[in-house]
Amino acid sequence: MKIKFLGTGGAFDIDYLNSAALLTFRGKCLLIDCGFTVYQTLVQKNFMHRVSHILITHLHNDHCGSLANLLLHKSIVEKAERPVILYPSEQFKNQLYEFLKVQVKDPDKYADFVPLEQFDGIRVVDTYGQHSEGLQTYAYIFEDEYRIVYSGDLGKPEALFDKLSRLPSLPTCVYHDITFNPENTGHTYYKKLLPYLNGVDMFGYHCDPTQNPPDNPIRLVFYQKDLMA
Ligand SMILES: [Zn+2]
Ligand SMILES: [Zn+2]
Repeated sequence: MKIKFLGTGGAFDIDYLNSAALLTFRGKCLLIDCGFTVYQTLVQKNFMHRVSHILITHLHNDHCGSLANLLLHKSIVEKAERPVILYPSEQFKNQLYEFLKVQVKDPDKYADFVPLEQFDGIRVVDTYGQHSEGLQTYAYIFEDEYRIVYSGDLGKPEALFDKLSRLPSLPTCVYHDITFNPENTGHTYYKKLLPYLNGVDMFGYHCDPTQNPPDNPIRLVFYQKDLMA
C-alpha cells in the first residue's frame, strides 16, 4: 500500500493544487478525489492511465470538479476500460450520478458504479454534516499490512478518532485536513488534532503550508517529498 498526493491545498489554495491522492492498494490504483486541478495534474504527470478506481469524499468542486473530464479522457483519449467508481451509499451514488449526468448525459457509459463494500479492505466513516451543514461527506480507512486514514474535509474529527480507537490495533497513518485559522469551522483546527497524536503517524493536508504556525507539531504532507506524486 502506497499513497502519493497529487495536491494538498484547500479549496482556494490553488498554488498547492486540490487535495487528492493516488493510492496503490491490493493491486489497484485508486484515485481519492478528483477536484478541478486533478485532471490536469494526472495528464501532466502521465498518471492518468494508472487510475482504475475512483473514490470521492464529497461533492465540493475541489474534490470532484474534474471527474467528468477524467471519465471522458479515459473513454475518448485513452479508449481505456471504464474506471470503477466506488460508492459508499446508494444516496451518495445518486448524488454523484446526477452530478455527472448533467455533464456526460449517460454516466454508465463512462464508469462502472460499484458499492464500496465489494472492495475488500476499505472502511467508510460517514461524516455527514461534520464539514459543512447538510452536506454528505465521508472519511475512508484502508487496511492492509498497515492502516491509512484519509479524513476528507472534516471540521469535527471526534467521531473519526472515536471509530479509530475502537478498531483492532494496527500501525496507523492518518492524513487529516487541517486549518491554522480557529474561525474556520469547516476544517479541523490543528490544536484540535493534538490529543489524537498518540500511537498514530499524522500528516496534515488541505491547507496553505506557508501559514503553518511554528508550534504545530503535525507534519504537513506538502513538505514530505516521498508523499508527493
Ligand atoms: Zn476541500
Ligand atoms: Zn469540502
